Amino acid sequence: MRTDPNIEDFAASNNPVVRKFNEFIDAHGLRRTTERYAILSHIMNINGHFTIEELQQLIDADGFRVSRSTLYNTVELLIEAKMLRRHVFEGMQAQYERITLPHTHLICTTCGRVKEVRDPNFAAFMNARRFNAFNTDHYSLYVYGTCSSCARKSKRAKAADDKKEKRK
Ligand SMILES: [Zn+2]
Ligand SMILES: [Zn+2]
Repeated sequence: MRTDPNIEDFAASNNPVVRKFNEFIDAHGLRRTTERYAILSHIMNINGHFTIEELQQLIDADGFRVSRSTLYNTVELLIEAKMLRRHVFEGMQAQYERITLPHTHLICTTCGRVKEVRDPNFAAFMNARRFNAFNTDHYSLYVYGTCSSCARKSKRAKAADDKKEKRK
């Protein structure tokens, strides 16, 4: 494990995300390890979704040595601390993202691309929605369909097929 002075600064910083993590670690009697901070600092630099492999690659590329089990472990801690969320989209590897503003996921079932959209109308609806004997903490909406680039490709493929059919 490389000891990076930046990671020490990061761990002691007043950033609200770091503070929340420190409070969680202390409250659970866990150790404040350099590996955990290296993982958190990398996660904080990612916009949107990532897989464990992608996170590992980013950390490796920066010259940190973090084992896969430490990575999984820290990701689990962050989920428990309600700082990170796991998504398992149909037929895909688990993806993670930091808990930020609520958004809707548009998932292309052909190429697997996930697009995030903010829908103020839906958010207003959900904020006002009360369920019997249940307190909403957060929610997730997955919309499955076909992205425009896959739709274009399949249209072109179909047109080519039709041409072939006519030539027969
Ligand atoms: Zn697609
Ligand atoms: Zn998302």
